[in-house]
Amino acid sequence: MSARGGIDLGGTKIQAVVVDDKHEVLGDSRRPTPHEGGPQDVADAMAETVRDAAKAAGLEPGTLAGIGVGSPGAVDDGAGTVTSARNLPGWEGSFDLATSLSSALGPIVRLGNDVQVATDAEFALGAAEDSSSLLGVFWGTGVGGGLVLDGEPWLGRGAAGEIGHMVVRRGGAHCTCGRRGCMEAYAGRAAMEITARHKHEDGAKTDLFKIMEKRGRDRLTSGIWARALKREDKLATSLIERAVRALGAGVASAVNLLDVETVVIGGGMGVRLGEPYVEKIAAAMTPHLFSADRPPAISVAHLGDLGGAIGASLLVDRS
Ligand SMILES: [Zn+2]
Repeated sequence: MSARGGIDLGGTKIQAVVVDDKHEVLGDSRRPTPHEGGPQDVADAMAETVRDAAKAAGLEPGTLAGIGVGSPGAVDDGAGTVTSARNLPGWEGSFDLATSLSSALGPIVRLGNDVQVATDAEFALGAAEDSSSLLGVFWGTGVGGGLVLDGEPWLGRGAAGEIGHMVVRRGGAHCTCGRRGCMEAYAGRAAMEITARHKHEDGAKTDLFKIMEKRGRDRLTSGIWARALKREDKLATSLIERAVRALGAGVASAVNLLDVETVVIGGGMGVRLGEPYVEKIAAAMTPHLFSADRPPAISVAHLGDLGGAIGASLLVDRS
């Protein structure tokens, strides 16, 4: 048996898995992404997370056949570098992540884009196992997208899949990207939190921030949104409904262009809210679908929260 490692490097947490050659998870681990310092501090935390996952699997990290990393920012697997990972501390420039991890842990390190490796994992092992084309929608802090067309990842010129910046309303809400009317400006967790804070300051009643304080958090996590929805919190419900309408319009527009067989909804919000909300998104897509009598299969990401790390481990076998 030859085990492999996979790391999903996110803006809020780092997740690592050790999988066997059938991609079964032998051990996993997670820790918060450092908020301060620079790329080396992030790389140190990543190495620790892999050590913990290997320990949980009863293995030494040095015995792994390789380690794959799904990273935000501009990823160059050939050079082993990650550049402009702007949601990570002090990571505006280029950093040799592959060498850093490889010298800390031993095995070779392969790099890929975080959203694309999660999409590839759903294509190879998850919800789209029997499809030849897939659109992965990762609904979390922002809204990321990944594509597999005719069995191959589609990266465009390197920046494909930015489904969060599909325009769902011209001249609409301000997006964190600096433009207006993007799907993410309505559906991204970060944008929803900004809107919720403004409305709360303007007097709208909501339990969102009470739940946040009670749980000792400083941000509205997916879990907090889910709890507020359960309590039928009016503001949370209306913002989530607005997000679902934006996702319906944006995802349906992408389907009209690409006619993919399968759409997978993942990400922190997607996985947490799960199947009932995937059904709501599917219903919100219907009025916008050109071929509404032939919609794509749509489901929640089968690999759940570990999909990114499992997908990263698949990079080890890529030629
Ligand atoms: Zn945008």
